[in-house]
Amino acid sequence: PTMAHSQALLVLENFIGGKFVPCSSYIDSYNPSTGDVYCSVPDSGKEEVEAAVKAAKDAFPVWSSKSPLERSQILNKLADLIEHDLEEFAQAESKDQGKTITFARTVDIPRAVHNFRFFASSILHHVTECTEMPAMGCVHYTSRAPVGVAGLISPWNLPLYLLTWKIAPAIACGNTVVAKPSEMTSVTAWMMCKLLEKAGVPPGVVNVVFGTGAKAGEALVCHPDVPLISFTGSTLTAQRITERSAPHCKRLSLELGGKNPAIIFDDADLSQCIPTTVRSSFANQGEICLCTSRIFVQRGIYSEFLKRFVAEAKKWKTGNPSDPTVDVGALISKEHLEKVRNYVKKAQAEGARILCGEGVDPVALPPGNQKGYFMLPTVIAEVKDESCCMQEEIFGPVTCVVAFDTEEEVIKRANSVKYGLAATVWSSNVGRVHRVAHRLQSGLVWTNCWLVRDLNLPFGGMKASGIGREGAKDSYEFFTEVKTITIKH
Ligand code: NAD
Repeated sequence: PTMAHSQALLVLENFIGGKFVPCSSYIDSYNPSTGDVYCSVPDSGKEEVEAAVKAAKDAFPVWSSKSPLERSQILNKLADLIEHDLEEFAQAESKDQGKTITFARTVDIPRAVHNFRFFASSILHHVTECTEMPAMGCVHYTSRAPVGVAGLISPWNLPLYLLTWKIAPAIACGNTVVAKPSEMTSVTAWMMCKLLEKAGVPPGVVNVVFGTGAKAGEALVCHPDVPLISFTGSTLTAQRITERSAPHCKRLSLELGGKNPAIIFDDADLSQCIPTTVRSSFANQGEICLCTSRIFVQRGIYSEFLKRFVAEAKKWKTGNPSDPTVDVGALISKEHLEKVRNYVKKAQAEGARILCGEGVDPVALPPGNQKGYFMLPTVIAEVKDESCCMQEEIFGPVTCVVAFDTEEEVIKRANSVKYGLAATVWSSNVGRVHRVAHRLQSGLVWTNCWLVRDLNLPFGGMKASGIGREGAKDSYEFFTEVKTITIKH
């Protein structure tokens, strides 16, 4: 019985109108670290989305008329409940996604908790605008109201983290939501649904419909009663969503991919820069939209940097994600692993040098993980700027290192990709740091650090990395409709 129990599939159900409801068909979900199917995810379509949108519409009048303080208290309660089960959530995220247990424990789940607490607080502190026109005898002011049913679509790399980054502001502002997590990582969203009632979230305020992008995602995007879509995922999917939502003139927030440069000047503090740049390249298996994948190093320190960077990258241990000493877990899927490996093969064929990792070093995996989707942190040098490895988002543990000579040159090269999400600049010259930061086409620029975030401030990308920004004020503006009212006395 214990064997049968351990092999029993975890079966998820949609969460609609405060109830778990089974679906007529299911999709297999894999444990990336073993390659086994371990979970069945509802394969929802139009019918399920229709039911969820109806539940969300029905819940809207009551939820939207609650005071911000009432909603804030509920969000705080939900944060407490997730935090109480933090270890269980972390284990589930690691198993479902392939990420290390350490990353899930220290980044994913704490941030999901923080997302609810942050918006529970920030919703209490907005003020609207007011202007006076004494000559006309008029005063103008703005008022903000929730929009309605928000459609939220999230990716597989930071499952609960990114989904709650949307749910929290949406419901804090008084909207009701229909969320569709990635079909590859649905478990923690389903676990969160189990806590909603206890937190005091009324039925229908948060509905979760599981399934693929093509079926469930598109049904949500095309639904006439969903006036806004907040999407995080790839640029290609965003193009499709834009097309499909255009007939309805929907409000869109699009957080997309990146091809993020790190620019390292010869006056950088390498003792800080090297470990941080290894982390920015390989954290979460390189599966973070903000990960560095093009490293420009000033020629004078290029060879020293490469030597030290490769030595540091080799220290990262790849293996069973549930082992707390492991730094690199499994990639999300067999197909994705193949795609990432192909980039390394292409670079090799073009004459680039693979300094460590894929194809160069042996991978030692525990017996239970032989069929998992693992890949070592891989460093590529001498790759041309035009190469697909320097132009396209790889989204795996692969980073390219190239040399540059001047500030002017490196800004031009860093900007010469279609993306513009995040950049890092390393230098001890404060003037240079400001100059370069201003000229980079990038929604975020970190200097002498990486991934230090203040959720108050705008987050989002330029160019093919997205449309719109998220953050305390930005999310509030996105999830509310503003009205200007003029009073003549
Ligand atoms: P994806 O675009 O394939 O999928 C994202 C979500 O969209 C999933 O839930 C998917 O089911 C859904 N989807 C797919 N096709 C759809 C359609 N036609 N209509 C509606 N929904 C659809 O992306 P992914 O592979 O899950 O995630 C990786 C990508 O996400 C990378 O490009 C990464 O850079 C990006 N990302 C961006 C950010 C950011 O904040 N800018 C954060 C994390 C990830």
